[in-house]
Amino acid sequence: VPALTAAEAERLDADDPLRPFRRRFRLPPDGPYLDGNSLGALPLATMARLTATVEDEWGTGLVTSWNAAGWFEAPARVGAKIARLIGAAAEEVIVADSTTLNLWKLLGAACLARPGRGTILSEPGNFPTDLYAAEGVARAFGRRLRLADIAEITAAIDEDTAVLLLTHVHYKSADCRDMAALTAAAHARGALVLWDLSHSAGAVPVDLRGAGADLAVGCGYKYLNGGPGAPAFLFASAALQPSLVNPLSGWMGHAAPFAFEDGFRGAEGMRRFLAGTPPVIGLAALEAGVDLLLEAPEAQRVAKSRALGQAWIGGVEALDAGFTLASPRDPALRGSHVSFAHPQAFAIVQALIARSIVGDFRAPDLMRMGFAPIYNSFADIARAIEALRLVMAGEEWRRPAFSERGTVT
Ligand SMILES: *Cc1c(COP(=O)(O)O)cnc(C)c1O
Repeated sequence: VPALTAAEAERLDADDPLRPFRRRFRLPPDGPYLDGNSLGALPLATMARLTATVEDEWGTGLVTSWNAAGWFEAPARVGAKIARLIGAAAEEVIVADSTTLNLWKLLGAACLARPGRGTILSEPGNFPTDLYAAEGVARAFGRRLRLADIAEITAAIDEDTAVLLLTHVHYKSADCRDMAALTAAAHARGALVLWDLSHSAGAVPVDLRGAGADLAVGCGYKYLNGGPGAPAFLFASAALQPSLVNPLSGWMGHAAPFAFEDGFRGAEGMRRFLAGTPPVIGLAALEAGVDLLLEAPEAQRVAKSRALGQAWIGGVEALDAGFTLASPRDPALRGSHVSFAHPQAFAIVQALIARSIVGDFRAPDLMRMGFAPIYNSFADIARAIEALRLVMAGEEWRRPAFSERGTVT
């Protein structure tokens, strides 16, 4: 792929059917934001929505808003909207808690649903919280966590596997896993599969129903643009739901929360996966982000995501500056971010940030850029390529300040 010129970028942006969406976000004035896979940008509509939620619903409505403003229904209502982005039925998705807690709930539920099986299976290098949650669930439920490389994962599924835990789009490599094939392989041996869609939802086509998926979780603050610490979502297939028990039982997951009974009876459907009171303000922000995404046709989002990624790969490789592609070259096998390995990746990313090109570094040596098709443009890519050219040609990354590490990378 030849490097993208500014003129070509302008032409591609002029033809982009998603172009009008960019104006509906607040974006940094002087630099492309290429980290929407870590924290999505702020939709302008979210600010008005939050003001209304706080001033009118909370400030004026107070406790009556649980019914009158639909607060109680918000987890299921927003879940039903997210369902449309991930190939699920409306009643198969609910919004609650963080991805980490939802991993705990569904991994625990999977262990309880497969009582004779002693193993949670995952891959080394999976997202840390997924592995930490799996380790903790294994300890709490008397199971063991086994890790097998992705190339050997199918062979590693056996009669002892209770649940296979995989991330659909890998957070570093952007490798997109074959959900249908891996789910079928697990089912052939009687195991359940839990998919983490944190880097998939709103970014790549996901067809949970088509893949026969059992369980899934995902994040609200990446491509769904729900804001920092947005509540996460969880999915259980309609067929599986009746047999699942939420080990993190709480009153909001009770069949009759306002009957105030002493004993726990799980609610019908996905409501049983709620634990405590839903984060109403966070749900309002997430709903505004999801509503905006749902306005943009998926086929257009996917095509543009792939085109942006290809343009970035072509541009970086044309610089011939020692970067090695660490993501699939075939966009159909890739998520919506691209990682390049470089021994100086940390300092290079800092030098790019100093030029207002915001991407991120992932240890040990990856420069990772995320492309959110709803607000990134081809001009963003052209500017990032030009900035990277300057950073490499001028060896700007050598400045000592660019090697100092903050707490959050
Ligand atoms: C972002 C991400 C998470 C986030 O978990 P939190 O509980 O929201 O901090 C989990 N898993 C994966 C794969 C992610 O990419």
